[in-house]
Amino acid sequence: MQFTLTPIGFIESCYKEKFGIPRQPGLVEAARASLRLVPPFDRDEAVRGLEGFSHVWLIFGFHGTVEQGWKPTVRPPRLGGNKRLGVFATRSTFRPNPLGLSVVRLLKLDTTQGVVLELGGGDLLDGTPVYDIKPYLPYADVLPEAVGGFAPDVPDVAMPIQFTESAAKQVQYASRRYPNLQSLIEQMLRYDPRPAYFGDIDQNRQFGVRLYEFDVKWRIVEGSAVVVALERIDPASKYSSKSNDADPT
Ligand code: SAH
Repeated sequence: MQFTLTPIGFIESCYKEKFGIPRQPGLVEAARASLRLVPPFDRDEAVRGLEGFSHVWLIFGFHGTVEQGWKPTVRPPRLGGNKRLGVFATRSTFRPNPLGLSVVRLLKLDTTQGVVLELGGGDLLDGTPVYDIKPYLPYADVLPEAVGGFAPDVPDVAMPIQFTESAAKQVQYASRRYPNLQSLIEQMLRYDPRPAYFGDIDQNRQFGVRLYEFDVKWRIVEGSAVVVALERIDPASKYSSKSNDADPT
């Protein structure tokens, strides 16, 4: 059977580029996104009853990687990026049908102007098309006996995070608009988003990741991630940084 999927809505996310996005939802609780439904799906009766659920499943399109097609095997960063596993054994974005599945916290359901879902803890890129929303059903979806193959637990990296004095001030200022910003930076950098192959080659290298309208700059100093600056960027500018094309799981 073949059929066409139509986006029911689009994501506006704190994550403006792929680099740095956690490999799964729930790892960075401070992440924020909103899902705005589009006509003809933006009717309040289509979400009636959803407000009683704390979490929802989203089925979405990997619009940022779809052009790269799919591969039968991928190298999960979890395994150091040097072992190949079957695409269907991983959560890689490079799939025959580029569909993602994420469970996220439903913080607020706003039906005052169209339908907007405020979401927490997601792993979604800004602009992601969403094809379906399903309520998370604890009685069916919580499986305490489940076994997690090559990814049995949360990734065990816990990078300490520091801020330089000036970066701390910049974050504090920006927090007036984005109260979750400091936690977001801390929770995100804790997983050390540097590509696996980077290793310790260049100690002085500065990394940048775009969150909201900021370019967050950090360096690794003696095993800690030190945030050195928060630079405001023109939202219209074509921003690019070293992207991390490792296959996530
Ligand atoms: N939880 C989903 C996604 C796992 S892959 C699933 O299991 O299907 C997670 C990675 O997807 C993130 O690291 C991010 O870089 C990437 N990602 C998120 N939204 C994307 C999009 N719209 N297009 C391409 N990649 C995306």
